[in-house]
Amino acid sequence: MRVWIGIDDTDSRKGMCTTYLALILIDRLKEVGEVVGFPRLIRLNPTIPYKTRGNGAVSFLAEIDDLDKAVEIAEEVVRKYAELDDPNTNPGVVFVDEAKVSLLREFARRAITDVLSIEDAIDVLEKLRIEHLKFKNGRGLIGALASVGAVLEDFVYELIAYRLPERIGKPREFDKESFYELDFLFYPTIFDTVDWCNDVVMAVPGTPCPVLFGLRGEDPDLLKKALSIIKTEPFDRFQIFQTNHATDMHIICDEEIKNFRSYRVVGRLIEKPYEIVGGHIFFKIKTNSGNLKCAAFEPTKQFRNIIRALIPGDLVEVYGSVKNETLNLEKIRILELEKQFLLLNPICPICGKRMESSGKGQGFRCRNCKTKYFEKIKVEVPRKIETGYYEVPPCARRHLSKPLIRMNVSGRHIFR
Ligand code: ATP
Repeated sequence: MRVWIGIDDTDSRKGMCTTYLALILIDRLKEVGEVVGFPRLIRLNPTIPYKTRGNGAVSFLAEIDDLDKAVEIAEEVVRKYAELDDPNTNPGVVFVDEAKVSLLREFARRAITDVLSIEDAIDVLEKLRIEHLKFKNGRGLIGALASVGAVLEDFVYELIAYRLPERIGKPREFDKESFYELDFLFYPTIFDTVDWCNDVVMAVPGTPCPVLFGLRGEDPDLLKKALSIIKTEPFDRFQIFQTNHATDMHIICDEEIKNFRSYRVVGRLIEKPYEIVGGHIFFKIKTNSGNLKCAAFEPTKQFRNIIRALIPGDLVEVYGSVKNETLNLEKIRILELEKQFLLLNPICPICGKRMESSGKGQGFRCRNCKTKYFEKIKVEVPRKIETGYYEVPPCARRHLSKPLIRMNVSGRHIFR
């Protein structure tokens, strides 16, 4: 029989990674069958407070002879490798008959864009009679089901290389230049490998997990080819996942704005952006459904220069997740720029020099020509920005955010 297996919530901040555990499971399942196609790494709602890091869950299709044995193997693998001692690790594994997968589509859509409860997952499991394993409170069942049900109309691939077990937890050894070379050769088919402006190798994480690096791209063959370019410590193995990274699948366009959801929404600036200690910048827009506070936090680096240049009256379309009634900007499209004026002293029509004040409330005069004028003149000053799309640099990019290089739109301003 063909079964989709979904797994989630096996790791903690101290270690492990659900993708790694899924690969151990895939290896062990060779006893009862084989995996068909690429395993999938599905990112879910990025605002969920329970997440360890990137709210990712894994699923794969397996051709299996003995389902009971497969369930037994999965239980053994989770018990052995999941960080079960961590209070926030609550694994879930589901085994979904291929014929039932389409019934999970809506559940998956909600898991990516909205907030679900463990009961929501249990209801679906009972209603559809889906075989599953629940550990502790079983919160991982939400991600496990969603990773199976997600329909990827847009997707990319991620090649993840894993560290030798004895090196996990030690500093990662890699030649930074080789990642820049890879980017130079293969961008944009392989993207978000490095951040040139901020001098960060995005492909190498800093967390104590088993991942050595992850390469993101449109073509799985090219990702494999790229392995010959980069120089790193030896790795244990690598795996290519199909994923909803870089697709904006979390973004919705609802009228009603709620916390813990991510939106694309149009509005006009009603105040000048202001900066607080730490370099975080805020402004408010008026949308069809009320006012919305937006933020460009310090880690968004150069992107903040665009936000600083906005003025009241500008019409923008903002993209990002809402928490604490504030939309955390991932991208912005400037639709209309308000004209900007400065009030200056008038120019003398005879000598062409700027007039000086004649005293408070007494207008202006030219000392040489004796000409007078009563008020300041309004002069239009060019804006420092233009209309179009702007995005945060790669070092501030969320897994799910679609980089402008993948968007077929005009007026893209890309930071690399
Ligand atoms: P990693 O990316 O390193 O594997 P993680 O960031 O994916 O870790 P998890 O340990 O998987 O974090 O924890 C996320 C938890 O949130 C899981 O239990 C998952 O089932 C649950 N979850 C995911 N999406 C939603 C959602 N939309 N509503 C409620 N719970 C969710």
